[in-house]
Amino acid sequence: MNRTTRLDLLLQPRPPSPLREVRDDGFERHGVRLLLKRDDLVHPELPGNKWRKLAPNLRAAVRGGHPGLVTFGGAYSNHLRATAAAGRLLGISTVGVVRGDELAGRPLNASLARCAADGMRLHFASRSEYRRKNEPEVRAALLAAAGVGDAYVIPEGGSNALALSGCAELGRELRGEADVVAVACGTGGTLAGLAAGLGPGGRALGVPVLAGGFLGEEIRSLQRQAFGGPAGDWTLAEGFHHGGYARVPAELEAFAAGFEARHGVPVERVYVAKLLWALTELTAAGAFPRGTTLAAVVTGAPEPSGPAQADSSR
Ligand SMILES: *Cc1c(COP(=O)(O)O)cnc(C)c1O
Repeated sequence: MNRTTRLDLLLQPRPPSPLREVRDDGFERHGVRLLLKRDDLVHPELPGNKWRKLAPNLRAAVRGGHPGLVTFGGAYSNHLRATAAAGRLLGISTVGVVRGDELAGRPLNASLARCAADGMRLHFASRSEYRRKNEPEVRAALLAAAGVGDAYVIPEGGSNALALSGCAELGRELRGEADVVAVACGTGGTLAGLAAGLGPGGRALGVPVLAGGFLGEEIRSLQRQAFGGPAGDWTLAEGFHHGGYARVPAELEAFAAGFEARHGVPVERVYVAKLLWALTELTAAGAFPRGTTLAAVVTGAPEPSGPAQADSSR
């Protein structure tokens, strides 16, 4: 089977992911309807926004005849895992540049072990190099050290202009379905594309899962690259990161487990749990008028092996 055939199989047109209402007292009490956009069901191995962001990049890599893919991520990165899986499914080699050279030579955690099992070659970069990976000289040196030649480079988190176009499709699927469409944010690429795709009258709300940062500025910059300027109506709801990336305090764990038990929907802890928590809190605080319909994008699924472990290195 050649690469183009494999690509067609991987990217074959999929119906819009399901949108379904859940009846939850925390919302109903305030006259707010909650819909879940089950993007976690879009692909079994590249769930949710990872499929949306990777699909146009994989097409570009295969069309461009690149011999492989290279990308960047932390030790628990869902994006690294999705890229590794895409490489296996496409029969294309992948290299992952991983933050933290202290990890080199140590046993791999479950997430990196999955990457390796999918054939991804891992290159561990020092934290200072990793931080400067977007500077041209640092990037060139990193790629040379990783032994990467003419590979197709996908940025950290997979967020580039093509990725935003893939996420705009998610927005188009949701046009007219809800007053507010909410999504958890890491790099903000999904929100940036989603907001553009919702079109006039649509409103997107992003819930950052990382503490601090300059996410608003990054989203504006991503939209400039992808669309030439600001696109869509979006805002950020700050203050729901629960201590930082991959931190899952006991009250958040209990909330996520409760939601799963009530609705039979698996709740990914690093992003989706924080999104649902934020919507519950905002609704209780009266942020949405009675009669509002909210759509929460379920951007991913929990690891089969259980909830993600906290990334103590971040
Ligand atoms: C990667 C990821 C996100 C973050 O997406 P960004 O485009 O980087 O903001 C959200 N949810 C899940 C489940 C993810 O894996």
